Amino acid sequence: MRIDLHTHSNRSDGTDSPAELVRNAKAVGLDVVALTDHDATTGWDDAVAAGRSVGIHVVRGIEISTRFHGESVHLLGYEFDPGDAALVAELRRVLDGREGRLPQMLARLAEHGIDITMADVAAQSGDAAASGRPHIADAMVAKGYLADRDEAFDGWLDADGKAYVDRYAAPLLEAVRLVKDAGGKAVIAHPWSRGSDAVLTAAALEELAAAGLDGIEVDHNDHDVKARAGLRDIARALGLVQTGSSDYHGSGKGPEFSLGCQTTAVQEYERLLGG
Ligand code: AMP
Ligand code: ZN
Ligand code: FE
Ligand code: FE
Repeated sequence: MRIDLHTHSNRSDGTDSPAELVRNAKAVGLDVVALTDHDATTGWDDAVAAGRSVGIHVVRGIEISTRFHGESVHLLGYEFDPGDAALVAELRRVLDGREGRLPQMLARLAEHGIDITMADVAAQSGDAAASGRPHIADAMVAKGYLADRDEAFDGWLDADGKAYVDRYAAPLLEAVRLVKDAGGKAVIAHPWSRGSDAVLTAAALEELAAAGLDGIEVDHNDHDVKARAGLRDIARALGLVQTGSSDYHGSGKGPEFSLGCQTTAVQEYERLLGG
């Protein structure tokens, strides 16, 4: 069994449609794939239908933008009720925050002679639930200012970048509770990527486990061997499930983030989502 529990379609900032993503997952030999678009469940129905037609199990998921002690933390949610009113309202707040700061970011780019309009961004975000920084990056590339998304983040759109404007993110503990109260499972995505090891300490993860957290994503390209060993120790001590996933974004991320490049062990998958 090959299981990949973290992927993005064009309903957030990936480049495959949900159905294409599922067909690609089947083609590379996966047995289970979770669709986890940022703050959106709008790809679920197409992904599940495609999974039925090609014969691969689709797990319905999400990656929620949260904040913990001032740091950005991504929370994966699985198999929750997508109509849960409290969760839907919080996701709406995140999506509105993402869109709401776009004009300010474009104004900052304009101050530096980079001309990107709302229409340019909309042309890139297409079917996405909201336009975010990756779509601004794509517009900068499309207009010939830069070569790729990474260059756009580096110095422009990243948190220290000249065009960066902060946006709302859900408080992490509240997001865990919302996913759990909606009947789902909660897993911290890449807990020790981009400096977040300083905030997601063993003690913090213990607090989150007590609040209902089910697992942590250990095998992710952003984690080196040492980080994985440390996270495995913490998961074992706290009884948390250990997952592994690609964080595939189609051509929106490098080829090293290909479908199935990291996978979840079947016994961990069954602990999380079985029965
Ligand atoms: P936003 O929600 O609009 O602030 O954009 C955040 C998204 O941009 C993240 O979820 C990532 O998919 C992407 N992202 C963040 N930092 C980087 C980076 N340094 N390089 C490429 N993509 C990034
Ligand atoms: Zn993304
Ligand atoms: Fe993430
Ligand atoms: Fe992701």
